Amino acid sequence: MFCRNFRNFQNVQPCLVSRSSNGAKPKAVTSVNCFHNRSNPSTSLPVRQTTLHRHTPPAVRGIANSAFRYQESESSVSPSSAASSVSRVTASPVGFAKNLCLGKFNKDDAFPFPEITMEQFDHLNQMCDPIEKYFNEEVDSTAIDVNAKIDEKTLQGLKDLGLFGQQVPEDYGGLGLSNTEFARLAEITAQDGAIAVTLAAHQSIGFKGLLIAGTEEQKAKYLPKLATGELVAAFCLTEPSSGSDAASIRTKATLSPDGKHYLLNGGKIWISNGGIADVFTVFARTEVVDEQGETKDKITAFFVERNFGGITNGKPEDKLGIRGSNTCEVYFDNTPVPLENIIGEVGGGFKMAMNILNSGRFSMGSSGAGMLKKLIGMTTEHASQRKQFDTKLKEFGMIQEKVGRMTMSAYAMESMAYLTAGLLDRPGTPDCSVEAAMVKIFSSEGGWVCVSEALQILGGLGYMKDYPYERYLRDSRILLIFEGTNEILRLYVALTCLQHAGKELGAMVKKLQNPVANPGFAFKMLTGRFLGRLGLKSSGNVKLQHNDGGVHPSLETSGKQLAQCVTSFQQVVEGILSKYKKDVVKEQLILKRVADILIDLYGMTAVLSRASRAKTVGLRNCDHDVLIATTFVNEAEKRIAQNIYDIGLAPSLNNDASIMRIAEEVFDNHGYKASHPLTKEF
Ligand SMILES: Cc1cc2nc3c(=O)[nH]c(=O)nc-3n(C[C@H](O)[C@H](O)[C@H](O)COP(=O)(O)OP(=O)(O)OC[C@H]3O[C@@H](n4cnc5c(N)ncnc54)[C@H](O)[C@@H]3O)c2cc1C
Repeated sequence: MFCRNFRNFQNVQPCLVSRSSNGAKPKAVTSVNCFHNRSNPSTSLPVRQTTLHRHTPPAVRGIANSAFRYQESESSVSPSSAASSVSRVTASPVGFAKNLCLGKFNKDDAFPFPEITMEQFDHLNQMCDPIEKYFNEEVDSTAIDVNAKIDEKTLQGLKDLGLFGQQVPEDYGGLGLSNTEFARLAEITAQDGAIAVTLAAHQSIGFKGLLIAGTEEQKAKYLPKLATGELVAAFCLTEPSSGSDAASIRTKATLSPDGKHYLLNGGKIWISNGGIADVFTVFARTEVVDEQGETKDKITAFFVERNFGGITNGKPEDKLGIRGSNTCEVYFDNTPVPLENIIGEVGGGFKMAMNILNSGRFSMGSSGAGMLKKLIGMTTEHASQRKQFDTKLKEFGMIQEKVGRMTMSAYAMESMAYLTAGLLDRPGTPDCSVEAAMVKIFSSEGGWVCVSEALQILGGLGYMKDYPYERYLRDSRILLIFEGTNEILRLYVALTCLQHAGKELGAMVKKLQNPVANPGFAFKMLTGRFLGRLGLKSSGNVKLQHNDGGVHPSLETSGKQLAQCVTSFQQVVEGILSKYKKDVVKEQLILKRVADILIDLYGMTAVLSRASRAKTVGLRNCDHDVLIATTFVNEAEKRIAQNIYDIGLAPSLNNDASIMRIAEEVFDNHGYKASHPLTKEF
C-alpha cells in the first residue's frame, strides 16, 4: 500500500536545505515574540453552525420530542455520512495534515472547534440516555468476557436501541447519524470492548461498502435489514498469507461461463462476526481486461449472502481480549455471487477496502476517551479512599502524575476525534484519511498506556478479575493491531503527507535550482531558512492569534508554540525530501518520527481549538480545559523537539544505526545473543 503512495517521490528533486548533524542537545521548539500585536481581541469566536439530519432509535423515539427534528441540510454530504451533521464550511480539497508538511496551517479546518446547536446537543443527550442506561444496567461485561460470547438477549437489546444501523440513512430505517453523533455513541458502546468490536465489524466495516458505493438496488435490498440487525455483517479481507499487505490476497472470484455470476474460492482468517454474520463484504482477485486489452489480476469487492451457499466458518478463536466478540475463519467453496452483488467497480476492490477502513478509524478517539473517562472516575475514587503510609494515595506525586496524564490523554483523544468527525461532516469530499489514522494511532496507544496506569493505581486489586481493569487492559490491546496496525498507519500518515509535500515542493525546487532565472525567489527562500536556523525567524506565515481567527487570548503562548512547531516541521520535511528523495520509503525510523510529529501537531491543534471554544463560550470548567491544553502543548512541543533533533542527526549519532545493528545481530543469531550474566569464560 505505502509503496503505491510513494510513486511520486521520483519527481522530488534535491532541495537546497541541508541537515546539520551535530551532536547538540535538542531544544524545545522555541516560541518567538514577533507575532502581530493583538488589538481589541473580541471575546467571541465565530461559531460554526451545523445542521443534523435526525432520526431516533426505536427505544429512544418516545423520549425525543418532534421539536428536536433537525432541518435537512441543503448541501450534499459525504458518502460516509449519508445523512449527516454538516457545517456550512465546505471540506478543504487538501487534508489538514498534508498542508502541515508545507508549513501551511489551514485555520478553517481547525478553528473554531466543530459545533452543534443547543437543540442538537439536547437531542443527542436524549438519545444517549437510554443507551447509557442499557450499558450500565443490562450489559454484563464480566459474563460476556468469561463466556466469550455476547448472549442473544444482550444482542437483541442493542438491536432494539438501533445500534446496528447508526449511520444507515433514515430512508433505509437507520438512525442516520452524522460522524459527530456516531463518535458520541461510540463513547458509550466502548464500555464493553466485545460489543464495540461486534458493532464496528457490522457497520464500520461489514457493510460500509454499501454506504460508500452501493447501488440503489443493493441499498434498498440490504440496508433496512442491516439497520435493524436482522442481518449481521462481517468484513473479509485478511488471509493467512495476507495481513498488513492486504493487496496480496489470494481468494479468487472467477466469472462463470454464462457470465451471470462469480464463483468465490478461498479462506479468510480472524473475521470479526465471522461465525454469526449473514452477509459478508468479501475481497477477492478477479481477472480484469484493461483498456489495452491486457488481462490483469485485480481485487474486487463482493457483498455475499451466507444463503448463496458454499460458506463455512471455523470455531470462534480463543483470544486475549474482546473475548465476547466472535472471531472466526471463513471459507468460500465455489460460492456463487451474482454480478449485481459486486460493490463498486470490478477491479476497484483494494481502493474500496482502504476507503472503508479509512472512514471508521476516527471514532477510536471517542471510544478510547469514553473508556478512559470511566477508568479515571473509578481510579480517582479509589485513590481518594485508599491510605498507605497514613496518607491517601491521591496525595502522592506519582499517583497524581498518572491521573494528570490519563486526563490529558483522554482530553486529546476526544478533541482529535471530534475535530476529525467535524471535518468529515463537512459537505463535499473531505480528505481526512490521514487525520483519522492519526486519531487511531494516538488513541490506541494512549488507551493502552493509560489503562495500564489505571490498573497500577489500584495496585494488586487492579490485577484481580473481580475488578474490570485487567479486562480493559486485555480488551484495549487489540486496538493497536486491527483496522490497520499502528506501524502501517504510521507509514501511511508519513508517506501520504511527504508525497504531497514532494509534489508541491517539486515546483519550488525547480525554481531554486535555477537561481539565475529566479533570483528573487531563491534569495527569499534562502534568507528565510538561514534566519530560521539562527532562531531569528518567527513562526513563518502561521498565525494563530485570536485576532487572526486562532486561539483564545488565554492560549496565545500555546498558539505561538504550535505555530513555531509547524514552521520547524516544514523545514524538516524539506530536509528529509532533499536528503532521501524517494528512498525515504526505506527510512522507517525517520518516517515514524515524521508521523509522530504530525500526530502531535494535530493533537496540539485539536486541544487548542477545543479549549479556545470552551473559553469563548464560557463552559463551566473552561479554565481546566485551558490548563490541560497548555500542558499538552508543552509536552507535545518537547516530543516534537526531540523528534526533529533525532531526524537531523546522522544515524550513527541518534542511535538508530546501533539499534538496527543490535537487531541484525540478534536475527543472525536466531535469538538473544549476549551471554548469560553468570557465564564464565573457560
Ligand atoms: C481480534 C481480531 C479481529 C480481526 N478482525 C478482522 C476482520 O473483521 N476482518 C479482517 O479482514 N481482518 C481482521 N483482523 C485481521 C487484522 O486486520 C490483521 O491482524 C492486521 O491487519 C495485521 O495483519 P497480521 O496480523 O497478519 O500481521 P502482519 O501483517 O504479519 O504484521 C505483523 C507485524 O509486522 C508489522 N509490519 C507488517 N508490515 C510492516 C511494514 N511494512 N513495516 C513495518 N512493520 C510492518 C505489523 O505492523 C505488525 O506489528 C482481525 C484481527 C484480530 C486479531
